Amino acid sequence: MADVCLPHGFRRPVRKKPGQEKAGQAAFGSSLFHIHVISPSPFPMQKNSPFTLHRNSSCCAARRGEVRTEHGSFQTPMFMPVGTLGTVKAVTPENLIEMDAQIILGNTYHLYIRPGHELIRSLGGLHRFMHWDRPILTDSGGFQIFSLKELARITEQGATFRSHLDGSSLFLGPEEAIAVQEALGSDIMMCLDTCIPYPATRDEAIKATDLTTRWARRCREAQSGTSQLLFGIVQGGMYGDLRRDHAHALVDIGFDGYALGGLSVGEDKALMQEMTEAVIPELPPEYPRYLMGVGTPEDLVEGVHRGVDMFDCVMPTRNARNGTLFTSTGKITIKNARYREDKAPLDAECTCYTCRNYSRAYLRHLYQCREILSYHLNTIHNLHYYLNLMAGIRAAIERDQFTAFRNDFYGKLAGE
Ligand SMILES: [Zn+2]
Repeated sequence: MADVCLPHGFRRPVRKKPGQEKAGQAAFGSSLFHIHVISPSPFPMQKNSPFTLHRNSSCCAARRGEVRTEHGSFQTPMFMPVGTLGTVKAVTPENLIEMDAQIILGNTYHLYIRPGHELIRSLGGLHRFMHWDRPILTDSGGFQIFSLKELARITEQGATFRSHLDGSSLFLGPEEAIAVQEALGSDIMMCLDTCIPYPATRDEAIKATDLTTRWARRCREAQSGTSQLLFGIVQGGMYGDLRRDHAHALVDIGFDGYALGGLSVGEDKALMQEMTEAVIPELPPEYPRYLMGVGTPEDLVEGVHRGVDMFDCVMPTRNARNGTLFTSTGKITIKNARYREDKAPLDAECTCYTCRNYSRAYLRHLYQCREILSYHLNTIHNLHYYLNLMAGIRAAIERDQFTAFRNDFYGKLAGE
């Protein structure tokens, strides 16, 4: 059924085979997948939103909400730890639950190549495979293919690329990206997009963004009617007007949420924030907004300030393994000689397992010896720091004191 055939205020039905709803999920499923009237909106073709807004900040665009998925809800603003290969490196799901990670991310490109989405499907899906029963978001593979550069060839149909493992030729188009994510069984799927390098000419940005729109439409049509959510990805390079136009094009197609892609690719912070500010007001406030692959603790605070609900980044986990640790007073490089006899915890304010039990001197010793426990303890601390930062942000928005929180956050940062 074409979108234009539907009357104002109705959303497009998703093709669903009889009996496809799981037991006990009929009510949730029916609210997501059947035609019904929604409240008057400037975006008449929208899907019913999985997002509930709890509170808007009175002094900026920060907002407090919640996103419903097949594996439960998560609170926003939220940071999603990255579990590229079906594991958040160096920690167990129990560690993640203890630090209140409410949703994690898996990488379609990596799981597609190894061990393969069909194997994961046959073993009960990604949740069961990795022993994680809370929500999972999978990216589409677009960013990884973009990162392969000379190993990938992009056509209208999709991306042909060589495996970074064995050089074999593989293909991923919009339909394949959805099929792989449906096999993985993630709660939130992402559309396949074409990431625009920085810098790029306006013509290059237009061409790639238009292709992303056509791919987004194909992704939407390729959904087989599972209860998985699907987010569109706003591109447009570093051109604010292109990003605004692209946001409108994606909203016209209608998704469960909207992401800002192609940021943090080499541009400066001011430009990234300018692009965020260009897009957010163009997105319907009833839907979740996700800033992809960003970033530092400061980036999270600035993203929330501009109205972003969801973030992911490898920074806390990767930096942990490299011995760079985030604290409420700034970053620490644990290998530095100054910590050799330091009996203090990493962060006096932190309540994580690492800070409750170990000194900086011990963590430095483990790092210097490249002990496996170093990766584990450092990752627990860094993820706890990120998740605790988001919990503090959420509490501040609830009290309508986000501006005071933001000022306090910057006031404390001093570093080593
Ligand atoms: Zn800690």
